[in-house]
Amino acid sequence: VEVVERVNRLDAILSAINAEMAAAPERGTVADYIPSLAKVSPDHFGIAVILADGSIHTAGDADTPFSIQSVSKVFTLTMALQKHGDELWSRVGREPSGSAFNSIVQLENEGGIPRNPFINAGAIVVSDVVLDGAEPRAAIGDVLRFVRMLASDEAITIDNDVANSEAATGFRNVALANYMKSFGNMDPYVEGALKLYFHQCALSLSCRQLAMAGRYLMNDGTHPQTGEAIISPLLTRRINALMLMCGHYDGSGEFAFRVGIPGKSGVGGGILAIVPGRASIAVWSPGLNARGNSKLGTHALERLADATGWSVFMPTL
Ligand code: GLU
Repeated sequence: VEVVERVNRLDAILSAINAEMAAAPERGTVADYIPSLAKVSPDHFGIAVILADGSIHTAGDADTPFSIQSVSKVFTLTMALQKHGDELWSRVGREPSGSAFNSIVQLENEGGIPRNPFINAGAIVVSDVVLDGAEPRAAIGDVLRFVRMLASDEAITIDNDVANSEAATGFRNVALANYMKSFGNMDPYVEGALKLYFHQCALSLSCRQLAMAGRYLMNDGTHPQTGEAIISPLLTRRINALMLMCGHYDGSGEFAFRVGIPGKSGVGGGILAIVPGRASIAVWSPGLNARGNSKLGTHALERLADATGWSVFMPTL
């Protein structure tokens, strides 16, 4: 009885959040620096919550695929850590940057070692590690297969229009990669890592699929359906710590302050958020706040955390 009540209560919370977000007049600004992202309507809002017992709870546009953009950095970081473990930290740091997602300024002072794996420079290094000298096509296929496996969903795809649109306009990411190459922190063939990076950002998932893909992060690194250890419990804790500290660029402090759980945002308006041991959550609303994070997605997670008491800072966890 208690379980049923809890679950009904969660569904009621999600539909209240959805109603509030559907009616919100201020919806933020859709990213337009990647031309094909500019076409998405700011009216969308979706949310999906998967509990540790496997039950799935959704509201709004939870089944509409969107461009996950930087949320993909969590999955490539997992792959890089699987391959190289702690060696990765000689090429990328793990401190919050306090600067914008695409900033180049710290790189000069810090000898071409990006602050963390979730700013663009850091994620491009991680893509270089995942590529590991292989053909970009093969590595793109590996990332796609990895995300499908995590989500237990073979229907997940990469939107090539988005990837090409970003490749045609991503001059700053090209600059970041070349700048790091000048410090010897990139394979000289930077085009390969960039190709992988643009394609992983173009992964297209719905909230339901993204929450499914994030389940291992609430589950100590183990795939809840197959029982396979995707990554060790220690590294899972570290990924979650990085998401909390660095997952929202220079809005990470505010997100921790308001929401209090690990989260990773993307300029497509998606956020993956993890309540360790309890829930994997995905929200999506394309309008962004001034820091480039989903405006209504952040509000929705704040409401959800308030209503459920979910926080890594609560003794009940
Ligand atoms: N593909 C985007 C870029 O590199 C990702 C940025 C983001 O989602 O924050 O510009």
